[in-house]
Amino acid sequence: MPVSRRQFLGACLALGAIAATGCRAPLSLHRQRWYLFGTLLDVTISHGDAQQVELALTRLSALYNDIHRNWHAWKPGALMDINTAIAHGEAIRVDRSLENLILDSQQLYRQSSGAFNPAIGQIIRLWGFHDDVMPSGKPPAREHIERLLAVPPTPTDLVIQDGILQSRNPSVQLDFGGYGKGYALDLGMALLREHGITNAVINAGGDLNAAGYNDGKTWRVGIRHPHQAGVIAGLDVSGAEAIYTSGNYERFREDEGKRYPHIIDPRSGLPVQEISSATVIHHNGAVADAAATALVVAGLDHWPEVASAMGIKHAMVVTETGDIQLTATIAQRIQLEPNVRKRALVI
Ligand code: AMP
Ligand code: MG
Repeated sequence: MPVSRRQFLGACLALGAIAATGCRAPLSLHRQRWYLFGTLLDVTISHGDAQQVELALTRLSALYNDIHRNWHAWKPGALMDINTAIAHGEAIRVDRSLENLILDSQQLYRQSSGAFNPAIGQIIRLWGFHDDVMPSGKPPAREHIERLLAVPPTPTDLVIQDGILQSRNPSVQLDFGGYGKGYALDLGMALLREHGITNAVINAGGDLNAAGYNDGKTWRVGIRHPHQAGVIAGLDVSGAEAIYTSGNYERFREDEGKRYPHIIDPRSGLPVQEISSATVIHHNGAVADAAATALVVAGLDHWPEVASAMGIKHAMVVTETGDIQLTATIAQRIQLEPNVRKRALVI
C-alpha cells in the first residue's frame, strides 16, 4: 500500500534525531521547459517534495523572465536603456544584478586578454546578429568595421559608482550573449538551493549547470558534435558543475555558400575561424560560458594559454577540420565517441 505524505512525515518525526539526515520523502523527477534566452530551457529536478518544487519553479520562472527582458541586447529593457545612455554620453542608474554582471565581465575580459569582450555590441549588430532570424547577404564593408573599432570598445571603459554607470567610450554597446546564459543559470541554481533543492540540472540548449544526483545516480551529459547530428563525447556529473560549449555552427550569416559565424574576434571585428567549438567544464557557469566563447576566439595557437589565464583546467576544442584538442584534465573526465578518438590530441 502506498504511504501517504502525512504517514511518511509522521514516521520520520517518530524516528526523531536518528533520522534527521536520512529520512526524506522519496525522490521523484520533475521537469519544466520554457523558451528563454533564445533557446529551449529545460529544468530537471530530483526531489521529494512536489510543493517545494512547484514554488521554486514559480520563483525561477519569475527570475528568468526578468533576466530575459532586462539583459536582452536588442529588445526593450534595462540593458537597452543602458546602451542608449552610453551612446548619448549620459550617466544611468543600474540595478545590482546588472552591476554585478558588468563588473564580473570586466574581470573575464581582462583574464581572456580581450578575447571575451561583451562591449562589442555594435559590431555584432553590424554583422546582423541582433535579430531573431539568421542574417544573410554580403558581409559588412571593411571600412565600416574599422570605423567601429577606431576607439576599441571594452567593458573596462565603464565605471560604476554608487549604482550610477558612465562610459568613457561612447562606442561601447553591451551584449551579454556570450555569458549571460551562464550567469543566469548560476543564479537559477542558487535560487533552487535556497528552496532546499540540491539535485537539479538547468539545461539551456546543451549548456548546463548540474548539482547533486539524479535519483542517486550521476547526471549523464552529452557534448554536441559541431559538424554532425549527435554527440562527440559524454560525461558523468555529480555535484556542482557547469558544462558549456560555444560553437561557430549555432548562428551564422550566409552569403553565396560562405558562412560567417556569430562569434567575433573583437580585435579584427571579423567572425572567428579555425575552431568550430570549444567545451569547458567549471564549477561556475558564467566563467564556463565566457571561457567557451573566448577559446573559440583565441584560436588554435592561443586557446590553452587563454584557458589557463581564465582558471580553466577542463577544456576541449574541435577544429574546422574535425580534429580534437583537449587538456589532460578533461581527457580523464569525458568519453569521446569511438569514431572520433583517433582524431584527438591531448595537449
Ligand atoms: P556563445 O554561444 O556563448 O559563444 O555566445 C555567442 C554570442 O556572444 C554571440 O551571439 C554574441 O552575442 C556574443 N559574442 C560574439 N563574439 C563575442 C566575443 N568575442 N566576446 C563576447 N561575446 C561575444
Ligand atoms: Mg559563451
